[in-house]
This record gives sequence, C-alpha cells and structure tokens, in this order.
Amino acid sequence: TVRTRFAPSPTGYLHLGGARTALYAWAYARHFGGQFILRIEDTDLERSTPEAVQAILDGMHWLGLDYDEGPFYQMKRMDRYREVILTMLEAGTAYLCYCSPEQVEAMRERMRAAGEKPRYDGTWRPEPGKELPPVPAGIKPVVRFKNPLDGEVTWNDVVKGQITIGNKELDDLVIARPDGTPTYNFCVAVDDWDMGITHVLRGDDHVNNTPRQINILAALGAPLPQYGHLPMILGADGEKLSKRHGAVSVMEYPAQGYLPEALLNYLARLGWSHGNDEIFSMEQFTEWFNLDHLTASAAQFNDEKLAWLNNHYIKQADNARLAALAQPVLERDGARLASGPDLQAVIGLMKERAHTVNELADAAMLFYREPKADPALVAQHLTEAVRPALAQFAERCKAVEWNKAALSALLKEVLAAHGLKMPQLAMPLRLALTGQLQTPAIDAVLELFGRAVVVNRIEKFI
Ligand code: GLU
Repeated sequence: TVRTRFAPSPTGYLHLGGARTALYAWAYARHFGGQFILRIEDTDLERSTPEAVQAILDGMHWLGLDYDEGPFYQMKRMDRYREVILTMLEAGTAYLCYCSPEQVEAMRERMRAAGEKPRYDGTWRPEPGKELPPVPAGIKPVVRFKNPLDGEVTWNDVVKGQITIGNKELDDLVIARPDGTPTYNFCVAVDDWDMGITHVLRGDDHVNNTPRQINILAALGAPLPQYGHLPMILGADGEKLSKRHGAVSVMEYPAQGYLPEALLNYLARLGWSHGNDEIFSMEQFTEWFNLDHLTASAAQFNDEKLAWLNNHYIKQADNARLAALAQPVLERDGARLASGPDLQAVIGLMKERAHTVNELADAAMLFYREPKADPALVAQHLTEAVRPALAQFAERCKAVEWNKAALSALLKEVLAAHGLKMPQLAMPLRLALTGQLQTPAIDAVLELFGRAVVVNRIEKFI
C-alpha cells in the first residue's frame, strides 16, 4: 500500500511550494487508496512557532487536504530517537565522537588549506584493529553515523531520474548532539521508517539530504522509500518565489477572495500535466495523478492564470456559498446589506466577470450604499429632455408588474413617448440608482433594487 507524507517545518506560513508538495503527496495516496500522513518537523526550537503550526493546519484544512494519520510532532518523538540511537551504538552503525567543535573546525580548516573537501577525518571512527584515542575528561560526545567509506548511493528519483552520490562525498554525520538531541536527517529517516512511508515527495532543496537518509535507513535495515524531488516554484520574473511576488502564503488566498478549488487546480498543473487539460476537479486529479508526468524543470507562477481559474470556479460556485464569502468583505467595507437587494441575487447577476470574491464584493457594493453621483455627470445626463421621461417612468413603476420583462417593456414605452434613445434614459437611471454609470443591465438592476427603492431614488434624483 502507498503511504506518503507531508513534513513541513513550522518556521513560517504554509507557502505555495509546500502546498503543492502536500497536494501531490496527498493525491498520490488517494490515487492508490493509500494513506497520507502529516508530520510536523518542529525540532528547530529557535525557528519553530505554534503560529506556524496553526498556519500549516489552517492551510491544509482550507485546501481540503485531509490526512489519515497525524499530525505527528517530532518533538514528541524524542524517546524514540534516543532508543534508535542506542541500538545503533550497540550495533556499531554509530559511534561516540569526543572531538570538540574547535577540533572539528581545525580539521576542516587543514583540509581546506590542502585543497580538499572539508570533512570529519574519522578520528573516533572505530575500525577493526584501530586504536582509538583516550577518552578526554569533561567532554560530552556527539554520536556520529558510521557512513560507508566506499561505494555510492544511487536512487531513481521519480522527478529527476537517476542520481548517484559517492560515499566519499559524505562524512560521518552527527546524529545526536552533545546534549543527546537528535539531528535533522536522522529524525527524518527514523520517521519515514516508523511511519512506513513508501514515497517521499519533497522540494528539491532536499536532494543533498537524500543519500544521507538512504544510508541511515540502510543501516537500520529499513526498506527504502521512493524519492521524488520537486523543482521549486519561480515568480513570473524567473526568480525564486518570495514575498516580493505578492502572496506566497496559502492563507492569503482566501483573504484575497480565491476559492480553494482554483488554487488546487492551479497548483496541480504547476509541475504536472495531463495532456492539455487545464481545468479539472480534485476527483479527476486524484484519478489521473501519477509520478510519470511530473515536470523536472522549475515552474513559473502565473497570477493571471490563477485569476482565470478562479473566475471559472466563481462562475460555477453556487450563489449562497459566494454570498457567505462576500458578506464579511462587504460589511468590512461598510455595505448596508439590510437596505439593499438580496445578496445572493446580486451575486448571481455579477459573478460572471469577477476574478476574486473580493472583486465580486466590490462590484456588489453599488447595491448597498447611498448613491452619490458626481454632479458633473448628473448635469450631463439629467437634461431637460430627460427629466420628464424619468418622472413618468417613476410614476409608471408604482403599478407595473415587477419583473425584468415588464420593466424592459416599460422602458421602451417611455422612450418612445419622449422620442429618446435607450442610453438617454438608462444612463441617468444608473446614476439615480447607483451613483455610477457602470452597472449590469439596467432592467436587471431595476428588478433587483425593487419597486420602493427605484421610485424613491428616481424622485429624489429629479
Ligand atoms: N521539513 C522539511 C521542509 O519543510 C521537509 C522534509 C521532507 O519532506 O523530508 O522543508
């Protein structure tokens, strides 16, 4: 069975690259009916914060990336790491090293000076027939992993293809510090083993860690997962995606009025393809997703394409859902919702062109504030020829049947009676009702405002 995991370090917000990694790991598990595990790698005490943990959980929840196990926290697994370190010391796959940090630095310095790659020289590495130095007093040892000296580590990366690293490149990694706390690569290896992970998908900033983790897993007698290292996401300018490019935190997207299905669809396509398909649901995605069509080159984030997808999903979303999302935005901006037409009806009329819920709320605002038309525009559109037509229209509105067709017919009738053209009546009506000239179709606007507001505003206007 397939078991994947998402293993973020809670040192900041959940960013887009992390969300994409999580999405792919999730989809792969879902595709095979396997399990998806969330593991919080919180051992960096200086940089980990509870807020960042919360941001990860919120982001996963908003995106709907549900996990079958976890969240596990590495800080709660310290006893387990200690136990594994003890077994490794007993088995001889790890050893105590009493070199002080100064000594290690001095040894590195010597190698650098000699033009070699700086590495630990193996002073305390036990070998058959080798005599170790006397244990110095007052020094707490670190534990080092006994990395193989020869041979190489090879894995077939599901994104990047075969990768081979010579063991000569890897020195004996410190797996426990003098205070006994385990180090990063060791914890990841133990966790992937304990959690039965079959496929590790992660950012390609981890490629260098993989041979170390593979060697540790091999020393533990653990099965090796398959690894896939996803290329990073770049901004439109080709630079690594960062704050400069705008929203990089997943939770900024709901704040800006994006729907989760739009961001998911966008991230799904950013680094993976299924023919020319651009728009698909998560059901479809989990059905299609495999590791064969992952893109090996870095993907560029494209705001317009995301906005286009969001518009697509807004058009599909039902009005009640959109109204619930738009309402707090409108209220924040001072909309008087109770005094205007039904929000769901307004949304239904206006969602076609909106790229975000916030844009939709902005557009809907015209129904929920006192119209304040620019006097210059009023002077231009409320001419003496138009005034009596508006008066007549308001009068007739009091009795007309209240629907778009009847209102449309009434408009035409009044136009004909006064020898006017449609814009000559529609423009001042827009100003009277909304204070602006840009609105949806006038008959729809009239219908939505309702008889009382329409009559009242026209009479006030003229
Ligand atoms: N904690 C690592 C990160 O946030 C991920 C490690 C992994 O996936 O193996 O970059």
